[in-house]
Amino acid sequence: MAHQVLLSKPENKNLARFYISMMKRIATRLVMKLHPSIKRAICKKCDMLLIPGITATVRIKAHRQKHKVVQCVECGKVKRFVYNPNHILWVDKPEAVYHPQEMEDKRVAKSMQETQGKPSKETDKASSSKVT
Ligand SMILES: [Zn+2]
Repeated sequence: MAHQVLLSKPENKNLARFYISMMKRIATRLVMKLHPSIKRAICKKCDMLLIPGITATVRIKAHRQKHKVVQCVECGKVKRFVYNPNHILWVDKPEAVYHPQEMEDKRVAKSMQETQGKPSKETDKASSSKVT
C-alpha cells in the first residue's frame, strides 16, 4: 500500500509513513514479527519506505567484508547488510516453523511413559474394593 502511494505520488511521503507506522503498531499490538523482507525496506528512524532511487540510496562497499549500505534520503539513517550468499535467515530455517501437532505428540508420549513407569496394581485394587 505504502509502496503504491510512493510510486504514484512521490510527494505523498507522509501518507506512506502513516501506513507504515500503522503496520508496525498493529504488528506490535498482536505480538507478531514483520518479515525481514518488509523490515529491511523500512527506515527505523522515520518510518519511511526505502525504495532505491526514490527514498533511499544503495551502495555496495567491498572493504573489510562485502556489504550493502542503504541510506534513507529523508533522515540520513544508514542500514548495513553484510553480503553473504550462504547466510540463511532465521525465518527460512526449519526450526522457525511452529508445529503444534508435533509438540502435542511429544507431550502425549511423555505422559504415556510416566503412567507406564508407575505400578498400576494398587490403583486397580483400590478401585475394585470400592466397587464391592
Ligand atoms: Zn529515515
